[in-house]
Amino acid sequence: MSRKGADIAAMRREMLDAHLLTFMVPADAKLDRQPLLAQARTWWRARIKTNRPTCIGCRASFAEGAEVGSFLFSTAAVVPTSASVSAFCCKCASDLSPDDIDRVATKVLRKLAPGGEFLDPRDAP
Ligand SMILES: [Zn+2]
Repeated sequence: MSRKGADIAAMRREMLDAHLLTFMVPADAKLDRQPLLAQARTWWRARIKTNRPTCIGCRASFAEGAEVGSFLFSTAAVVPTSASVSAFCCKCASDLSPDDIDRVATKVLRKLAPGGEFLDPRDAP
């Protein structure tokens, strides 16, 4: 299993019977109040050359020059200790419609929480 696969497997175990919180932020968003996300972004950026992540919208390689337009993070809702990190390139972040962004993000998040349901926090009691 690749490191990425191991990370996803670890996240799956952590997320079983739990809720995920998801965050989509511009690449350069200030994350001072979200240190876990800031740390995950730093970790992700430091490993671009070795992990060779690709845009979740078009598969452009960040290791080969694609620029990050926005990050998609997910964490456990209760006592989060890690965050998954995915990214859209600048082109996808600016060109994809909100529906397309939502479709791609949903596909990515389904890998972390198979069978999970999406809840709107505005509907929470
Ligand atoms: Zn892209």
